[in-house]
Amino acid sequence: MSLPKVPEDRFNDLLARNEEYLSSGAFKAPIPLSTARQLVQNYGYKGLYILTCADGRVHPEEIFGLKKGEANIIRNAGGTAIESDVFRSLSIMSTIAPIGMVVVLHHSDCGGLFTTDEAVSKELAERNPEHAKDVEGYFYGTYKHIGLDQSIKNDVQRIKAWPFLNEGAKVLGYTYEVETGKVRQVC
Ligand SMILES: [Zn+2]
Repeated sequence: MSLPKVPEDRFNDLLARNEEYLSSGAFKAPIPLSTARQLVQNYGYKGLYILTCADGRVHPEEIFGLKKGEANIIRNAGGTAIESDVFRSLSIMSTIAPIGMVVVLHHSDCGGLFTTDEAVSKELAERNPEHAKDVEGYFYGTYKHIGLDQSIKNDVQRIKAWPFLNEGAKVLGYTYEVETGKVRQVC
């Protein structure tokens, strides 16, 4: 695999692909939000959410053959359900369409399996010693110490315990194997 070394060059390639995509005529606009909200009101439509890792090798759209509007994807490092970002997103989005299901999808060969919260704090503290105190003992939700399956179970539990989860919402946990493309239910 050859990738241009400089990120700016890689992004320029992506912009060129967007131009090609538009000129190919393949683009189709999704239904507008106002129509989606009518579906919620008239038919009791509920949202499907996938919480997964920000890793560029994980493509939920490709894994599940997703079409526009079929699922909302929340991504962060590890696909971890921690207070600061996931619940903020679920809070806003659940006021637009109630949450029907959340799928936590972690993956093999994830960076979260190769580091620890202590190692992340240590490296940040070394990068900027003046702010070492800010990251001391910080919870990043890395999972080298507990492994993939347990990390998924923990995140499923955190979401289930969220007091604002819509009534009747299901929360399931799956792994994705980057080596084979397979998904497996954990809980
Ligand atoms: Zn990952």
